[in-house]
Amino acid sequence: MNMLKLKFLGTGAADWTQPEANGEFRRYTSLLIDGRILVDCAKDNAFEGTPGAVLITHSHSDHYCAERIVQMQPKIVWAHESWAQDTLEAGLPVQKARFGEWIDLGGGLRAMPLPANHSTGREYEQASSYLFDKDGTRFLYMTDSAWISRAASNLIGNTPLDAIAIDATIGPEFSDDWRVFEHTSVEMALIMVRSMRKSGRLKEDAPVFLTHMARKLWPDQKRAEQMVEKPFIVCYDGMEALVTKQES
Ligand SMILES: [Zn+2]
Ligand SMILES: [Zn+2]
Repeated sequence: MNMLKLKFLGTGAADWTQPEANGEFRRYTSLLIDGRILVDCAKDNAFEGTPGAVLITHSHSDHYCAERIVQMQPKIVWAHESWAQDTLEAGLPVQKARFGEWIDLGGGLRAMPLPANHSTGREYEQASSYLFDKDGTRFLYMTDSAWISRAASNLIGNTPLDAIAIDATIGPEFSDDWRVFEHTSVEMALIMVRSMRKSGRLKEDAPVFLTHMARKLWPDQKRAEQMVEKPFIVCYDGMEALVTKQES
């Protein structure tokens, strides 16, 4: 089976600390793949049980909480080699992830860490995006990140992607926000989608999932959905989706 089952456990950026007046709420950003691989895990993570593996993008508290991961008792945690030692000292069964090197996650699924355009304030730490491949179905997960760097682009290569989940911290009404230097606005995402399509790196019908939305930079879910068009999908907590191999 070359299909990836996604469940967006959390779709919020770091400024989500309490529900809005209308009751809407987003947990910190986390994605579950095939019911067993967890990408990021902050203190409010909703996953129940023991994941087969946890992949961490970076150490910001809306993506990473060592205590919460310890509770889940995963067999293996992947963090970039630049800061993996910190997670080891926090008691996690860490393996060092390296940019450009595939991680075998079993069941035909593998992940390649890519350099993300994002920093944590700790100079030695390199944030990661991940390219997933399941028997030829390719899915790019990039949050937190801004523009795709040349190094990451080279690692992604020329084989077209079947889907992307992208940092959408900045909603359509706030494009000139200062966070563009290490996050993505919808306007930036659209430029990247267009150029990737034009160069044959993204399939024409590939869905682009918007996640990691900032509370202060987006309206409610209903209005958000009205503001974007295909291929964008405004994610919400608990949303499930399938990534299937798209015709080119
Ligand atoms: Zn974040
Ligand atoms: Zn971050």
